[in-house]
Amino acid sequence: MSRSKLLFGNWKMNHGPKATHEYFQALKTKLEPMRARAITGTLSFSAKSVGLFVPTLCLHQALQDAAELKSSLHAVGQTTSPRNLQELHVGAQLAHWAPNGAFTGETSGPMLKEIGIGWVLVGHSERRQFFGETDQTVHRRALSLLEQGFSVMVCIGETLGEREAGQTAAVLSRQVDGFLGGRELAARFAPHLARLSLAYEPVWAIGTGQTATPEQAEEAHEHIRALLESFLGPNEIAIAYGGSVTPENFAELLRKPSIDGGLVGGASLKVDSFTTLIDILGRT
Ligand code: PEP
Repeated sequence: MSRSKLLFGNWKMNHGPKATHEYFQALKTKLEPMRARAITGTLSFSAKSVGLFVPTLCLHQALQDAAELKSSLHAVGQTTSPRNLQELHVGAQLAHWAPNGAFTGETSGPMLKEIGIGWVLVGHSERRQFFGETDQTVHRRALSLLEQGFSVMVCIGETLGEREAGQTAAVLSRQVDGFLGGRELAARFAPHLARLSLAYEPVWAIGTGQTATPEQAEEAHEHIRALLESFLGPNEIAIAYGGSVTPENFAELLRKPSIDGGLVGGASLKVDSFTTLIDILGRT
């Protein structure tokens, strides 16, 4: 078995339900010609997942639109091609670890499941920076959501100060140890590894236009991969890179052996750039 590839957009706090619907309508038009190329062999989406983490209020709309998109992607006669893009996953940007309770403003896993959400983003640096997310809460969310059957993408990454102080490897080690809950609790992740992915997102590269070089990203990914192996044994956990990914730099990043895809903020907001990223993924 080999690692799958991932491309996920993260809309953050952008696009309401109306804009979500318009986005998917435009996406459908753009993906039509791509489908034909997947059938004829220029593009392939086997073992590749594409999706969007959208604001909580837009999840319902996005799910409806994604279902419509899926049936159009699977138009008569083309349902069986594994090369084709099978669907666009819709994910939540945040979920609480408890199934219910006195947590004003939060959304729980069972609520997300009820409307059909299968993916959740956990530990984004903006949650850590602005909303008090810690390694411990990242651990609680990741483990609980995996145990509830979700696919979970956990974000880690160093700040500029930490990189400049030569602490990148140490920070990543602390964050991996943290989200797994240390060596003892890491075993609880073992049954769920097929649904776990990571995003290495250097904080200094997020929304700044300053992408990590493919070499910097590769070095960090190799370190993370070694850590995951030491905690969990041999595994196929995919690690996406995030931080100012654009249509201009994505292909080069994907050429690195330890980079399994992208988590994309700004460039996922516009249909044109997100479709170009999907195209690049399909050609890789
Ligand atoms: C992100 O939101 O996770 C992100 C990487 O943003 P951007 O692509 O805009 O840097």
